[in-house]
Amino acid sequence: MTVEEHPASALAADLHSHSTISDGVLSPRELVQRASERAVELFALTDHDELAGLEEAAATARELDLSFVTGVEISVTWGATTVHVVGLGIDPDDRKLLKALARVRSGRTERAQQMSAGLAAAGIEDAYEGALRYVRNPELISRTHFARYLVDTGICRDVRDVFKRYLVAGKPGYVPHEWAHLDEAVQWITAAGGVAVLAHPGRYRVGDLKLHELVREFKEAGGVALEVVTSNHSREQVRQFAALAREMELEASRGSDFHGPGEAENVELGVVAPLPPGLTPVWHRFA
Ligand code: AMP
Ligand code: MN
Ligand code: MN
Ligand code: MN
Repeated sequence: MTVEEHPASALAADLHSHSTISDGVLSPRELVQRASERAVELFALTDHDELAGLEEAAATARELDLSFVTGVEISVTWGATTVHVVGLGIDPDDRKLLKALARVRSGRTERAQQMSAGLAAAGIEDAYEGALRYVRNPELISRTHFARYLVDTGICRDVRDVFKRYLVAGKPGYVPHEWAHLDEAVQWITAAGGVAVLAHPGRYRVGDLKLHELVREFKEAGGVALEVVTSNHSREQVRQFAALAREMELEASRGSDFHGPGEAENVELGVVAPLPPGLTPVWHRFA
């Protein structure tokens, strides 16, 4: 049997990226310009828990004649695991979503101060003040900003090294946090006219069984797609999550999860593998 490819599959779609509105290093305008230069044909800005960059990004995309999809990446607490749910095609003026995201963001400053206290106990002073220098949106201080500070001070080699040594569970700068519930995040997105995508499943440190449970719950809540292709998935993981999407009858998404030039090896706008066969690209809805 031959598998018919969906006609939208061939489109150079990159549906996951970050600007200075969350933990990216380029402004929404610079980011869209870069996407256009890299021959991206369909592009989404998906800042963490924030919609404030969408207007500038959309305006720039219009200027450059690049097809643009509104987006957001919502932080979710599922049991003991933090997972990310991307919303695509949301109405950026949806009052309920805006209010909900403001609530999700609200604990970040306090959490950052606690992270800083943890790092101080490990001998790294004033990390909060240091991280703040990298923050452009005061409501959105993230672990990434701490990571940049620790790299630039020479304490760590690169961002990955910082996470491994300081910012993941069990390390001195890690502070557990209560984000949104899975079902409410999916519902906010859906009610705002968007589709919910379970981001980078390869990132969650849960076994196969738990991952199935997560995907099932996500789908039951109204989730539509699985992010099969993302920069930090290996080829094997792409195959694995393609199979999972088919099995669970979910559409498939793809995004670079770009945060900034040179920040992570092999992560660049538009540099994403093709979707494996037999999947419905979620972007058929926007193409
Ligand atoms: P936060 O929302 O403050 O918990 O920060 C989460 C962000 O940290 C993610 O969106 C990534 O940008 C970054 N991040 C998480 N884990 C890693 C890792 N192992 N290596 C590099 N960046 C990471
Ligand atoms: Mn990030
Ligand atoms: Mn993420
Ligand atoms: Mn992301």
